[in-house]
Amino acid sequence: MTELQRRRAAAGEELARRKLDAFLVTGLPNVRYLSGFTGSNAMLLLAGGRVTLFTDPRYGIQARQESDCPVKVSRGPLLKDVLALLRRNQTSRLGFERGRISFETYDYLRANAPPGMALEPLAGVVERLRMIKSAEEIALIRESCRTNSRAFEQALRHVRPGIRESELAAEIDYRMRRLGAEGPAFDTIVAFAEHTALPHASPGARQLTPGRVILIDMGATRKGYASDMTRVLILGRAPARVKRLYRAVLEAQLAGIAAVRAGVTAGSVDRAARKALQAQGLAAAFVHSTGHGLGLEIHEAPRLGKRDPTLLEPGMTITVEPGVYLEGVGGIRIEDTVAVTESGCEVLTPTSKELREL
Ligand code: ZN
Ligand code: ZN
Repeated sequence: MTELQRRRAAAGEELARRKLDAFLVTGLPNVRYLSGFTGSNAMLLLAGGRVTLFTDPRYGIQARQESDCPVKVSRGPLLKDVLALLRRNQTSRLGFERGRISFETYDYLRANAPPGMALEPLAGVVERLRMIKSAEEIALIRESCRTNSRAFEQALRHVRPGIRESELAAEIDYRMRRLGAEGPAFDTIVAFAEHTALPHASPGARQLTPGRVILIDMGATRKGYASDMTRVLILGRAPARVKRLYRAVLEAQLAGIAAVRAGVTAGSVDRAARKALQAQGLAAAFVHSTGHGLGLEIHEAPRLGKRDPTLLEPGMTITVEPGVYLEGVGGIRIEDTVAVTESGCEVLTPTSKELREL
């Protein structure tokens, strides 16, 4: 069985458990996970051991190249052809992805469903499968992390007084592509000085001056798989205050990583990182959760929030990224991508975490 077949078989078992005779997959990352197809308009129907990939004429060739599934190229709305097939199959219970369908699509589905066909909203069926990565997927994420870190090193050569946040961000994105990434996995964050106090700062015209902190949060997409890393650097010598804050965040990040292993809850990793910052009186400055799963998407399950009960399992890939943010002063975040193993984790991000003075 190929990996794609194995994934569809796992989804099929889940359907059987829920006594559904068909499942309509509308979330594009889920369509990709189950079919291999990467285009921007598609639906996948799993029904009684058979699978059909629906797309439009722009993607006819690509769908047949990328996917091992029978492809139906629709000239009109995909859903019209999906419904025709459901009618032919005399489907009685159709599952659909409640979090991955627009209201408009749902409305059309409900209004045109064959009489007697029940619609069952499903939450996270494919996302739960995606949470545990195969060895092949972990290898792709490892490669994505490596590409990302190489792009980081190359882009750093361009850091000099006067460079703008947007220029450094553009350099990072360019380097990623040159190194074989499809592109950034999310909008690259480059922030200087006080701007680093915004956890999701968007790079602007701000220019770098000596003695200022640089925060870079970047991720590459490589063969569909995301990486995610944050590093903080400084132009010139780091003031003692920055060094102190940096050390506190690094301790929290290492405490988080040390807490990762199969069998513990996602929440316990968050609490380990939070506790380390609390000991430094910085708990209130840590305004987000400790991390998130990543894979085909940059944010996937599980979330590493305070009370998240999800048990970590070998094969999960997650980030560990505590940070502190002080308005008017600045922020520090350190983030690695790691793979959960039976006894701990493998840190997939190769970049050093020493505070670098450029
Ligand atoms: Zn990040
Ligand atoms: Zn992240």
